[in-house]
Amino acid sequence: MLCSGFNVVGFNWISSPAATELESIVLDWMGKMLKLPSSFLFSGTGGGVLHGSTCEAAVCVLAAARDKALKELGGWENITKLVVYASDQTHFTFQKAAKLAGIPPSNFRLIETSFSTGFSLSPENLRFAIEDDIKSGLVPLFLCATIGTTPSGAVDPIAELGKVAMEFKLWLHIDAAYAGSGCICPELRHYLDGVELANSISMNPHKWFLTNMDCCCLWIKEPKLLVDSLSTDPEILRNNASKSKAVVDYKDWQIALSRRFRALKLWVVIRRHGLANLMYHIRSDIAMAKRFEALVGEDERFEIVVPRKFALVCFRLKPKVEEEDLNCKLLEAINSSGRAFMSHAVLSGIYVIRCAIGTTLTQQHHVDALWKLIQDKAQSLL
Ligand code: PLP
Repeated sequence: MLCSGFNVVGFNWISSPAATELESIVLDWMGKMLKLPSSFLFSGTGGGVLHGSTCEAAVCVLAAARDKALKELGGWENITKLVVYASDQTHFTFQKAAKLAGIPPSNFRLIETSFSTGFSLSPENLRFAIEDDIKSGLVPLFLCATIGTTPSGAVDPIAELGKVAMEFKLWLHIDAAYAGSGCICPELRHYLDGVELANSISMNPHKWFLTNMDCCCLWIKEPKLLVDSLSTDPEILRNNASKSKAVVDYKDWQIALSRRFRALKLWVVIRRHGLANLMYHIRSDIAMAKRFEALVGEDERFEIVVPRKFALVCFRLKPKVEEEDLNCKLLEAINSSGRAFMSHAVLSGIYVIRCAIGTTLTQQHHVDALWKLIQDKAQSLL
């Protein structure tokens, strides 16, 4: 309400120094909570910005990576050689972002994952794909690794992927949109090991960090590359502060010129709850998800398809051969009850129902009621 009510329009530093300075401060706070290396922080050699969504952040870092590569290759005509790598579990927003950044869709490599790696991206398969492309005269540009994939919460091995990215000079971006929030807890921080090898990382406090839509943190090691790619310098915006180069003009770190005072939202969340309560929120959601997973496991009609990751449980009714769309029908029955809403994913051809716990007010009794609802609907279907 404050953010909308104040209606601050922070194009550049001079139009709202407070919005800009607070944004830089909360990005450093958030980065420190995640124990990001100082190379991503303003207090170190990098910096961060708030975007509305991961998709916007992805477009911007892809543009920065593209422009850096095209400069080295000697011109825009080389854009058709640039290749982007991701896994088949990577959020589709990166394909959209790559297309928006002018990368030919045929140069987007979706590397297959499977149950055997828990749906995480294999560094060996990445290497094979890169070597194949180099043999064909293409230029590897960008790798997106995910901490907490959308379908199942899988985590890509950042440190090993980082080594491959360094070897072939790829820009490594880490998408921690959902599970990044969890990494404030020391017991989950290891998922970020190897982050020092990345060029950029993003996470959405609006997913699991008690922050209202929209709020996506993007940190980048070399903000200059973002600014080189996205900056504009029209006469009407010229001012002494910008000229001094001593201030951050966030218009050069994003797509649009106009920007909201999003930092206020994150500031309120961090100050209002504090680190200990934020960790409590994450841990209690995980505990509820664990309990849900145990309840599913106790009912022999159901099965857990992949082990729980974070607060996300992928399960299904064990199907009989003649009932292929059983789980689809079950999901429809649950959602059309109006009492709960879940979504699905297909993992290596298997349709799973996803129970994700993460909203502000969810409590144990809601989860228990959900399980009762699922059992009732399953009973009617069977
Ligand atoms: N990346 C991951 C891992 C996600 O789970 C999501 C949303 O579900 C996104 C990216 C897309 O985020 P946004 O809607 O902020 O673009």
